[in-house]
Amino acid sequence: MQANISLGRQGLHFWWCVKTSQNNVELFKEKWFYLLYHICNQHHWDGNLYSKCTHKSIDDENEENRYLWIIKDTPPFTNIEKIVMSQLFQNDMPHLIHECHTGVLENFHSLALKYRTKRIHFGIDGMEAQTKLAVLTHNNNTGRKQATVKVSRSNTEEEGA
Ligand SMILES: [Zn+2]
Repeated sequence: MQANISLGRQGLHFWWCVKTSQNNVELFKEKWFYLLYHICNQHHWDGNLYSKCTHKSIDDENEENRYLWIIKDTPPFTNIEKIVMSQLFQNDMPHLIHECHTGVLENFHSLALKYRTKRIHFGIDGMEAQTKLAVLTHNNNTGRKQATVKVSRSNTEEEGA
C-alpha cells in the first residue's frame, strides 16, 4: 500500500494545474482545489470549469484499495486543506499561472559559481570575463540530452562482490 498524497505529489499537482490552465485563474483554482476531493477518493464534483479527475476511473475495488485515502474532516485532511485553501496562496494565484519557473536561472547561477567563486574577489573586468565564460558554458550545454549510465546485462554482479 502507498500513501495517496505527499508534499511531492502536491508539487506535481501544482505544476500540472499551471500547465493545463491556459492562464485562466478560475480554471487553475478549480483544478487546484479538486485535490481536496481526490485525496478523499471522490473523483467527481460540482465545478463550473472542471468537475472530474483526469486519471482513469478507479472502479475496481482492488485498485481503490491500493491507496490510503484521507478521510474528510480528520486532522490530516484539515492540515492539507489549510495549505490548499490558504488565502495567501490564493492571492498569489494570478501571478503563479504564467508557468514562470526559475529552474533554468538557478542552474545558471549554480554553474556561474564555478567560474565566479565567492571566495575570491574579482575586479569588474574579472567578473565580466568570468560571467562570459559561465554564459558560454551554459549556452553550450543547454538543451543537451541528460547523461545516462549504460550497464551491460552480463555485468550483474552485486556491488562489492
Ligand atoms: Zn481523482
